[in-house]
Amino acid sequence: MENKLGNPQKTIEIIQKYQFAFQKKFGQNFLIDGRVLEKIIAAAEITEEDMVLEIGPGIGTMTQYLAEQARQVVAVEIDKNLIPILEETLKDYKNITVINEDILKLNIGELAEKYNQGKPIKVVANLPYYITTPIIMGLFESNVPIANITVMVQKEVAERMQAGPGTKDYGALSLAVQYYASPYIVANVPPNCFIPRPSVGSAVIRLTRYEKPPVEVLDSRLMFDLIRASFNQRRKTLQNSLNNAQNLTFTKEQIANAILSLDLPASVRGEALTLEQFAGLANALKKCTE
Ligand code: SAM
Repeated sequence: MENKLGNPQKTIEIIQKYQFAFQKKFGQNFLIDGRVLEKIIAAAEITEEDMVLEIGPGIGTMTQYLAEQARQVVAVEIDKNLIPILEETLKDYKNITVINEDILKLNIGELAEKYNQGKPIKVVANLPYYITTPIIMGLFESNVPIANITVMVQKEVAERMQAGPGTKDYGALSLAVQYYASPYIVANVPPNCFIPRPSVGSAVIRLTRYEKPPVEVLDSRLMFDLIRASFNQRRKTLQNSLNNAQNLTFTKEQIANAILSLDLPASVRGEALTLEQFAGLANALKKCTE
């Protein structure tokens, strides 16, 4: 296709033609490397049956690649200045719907219903980094039917999502993501693959949604409250972190007994616990509230 983007020349040509001014507040760094785009598309395992949700199409570079693989692409872009550009760059594709909206304000479940009869969708994006966590957690927590999420994020964030217990990157984000999905870092991507160049390194991560969470937990909100409290005071023992947390009302004794019931030492730190152990802790403490 003559209008195919995904290289520096074509991208600069479009930007100059429309005198497009990059907006830092929208996290605009456009991909200009065809090999990276191919890696993202391959990792997402898109078939011709699929509906793909793209968050932030920019000038439509990845949207073109997605439209060639998927049955239907729905691309949500907040910046109204990009809409006329997308009309031009995507005009040859009949299976793309562009929505000019803030992804955080959109009912994605309704989109899945309308464009995919409520069946699991695939999400692919070079994300605006300033809202990576709210986008991903929003997708998981809102119960939108999702098969997988393949996204470009800041390298450190990808590492935190994939980290396990006892490592420096392990934290509340690792556990939140790993409760819903199995993470896999597909590729690291250097700043020179974007215009303009971001000041941080990037990575593509694929999150394959579990049909059901890998642990059984009676009250997942309580588990996430415990997780947040543990990592808020990372250098303290688990027992002290939970004692000090304002939003938790368990007694010292209840906390000590719950830790003991998991066969963990009293001096254990939260950062040493697996997801399964946090689930066990939440289940033990839940019983104290009954
Ligand atoms: N997909 C394009 C690419 O790879 O070249 C652009 C990626 S750029 C990192 C992020 C895109 O997300 C920008 O086009 C930006 O305008 C858009 N964006 C930022 N915040 C958004 C939001 N809240 N809702 C929808 N799109 C948003």
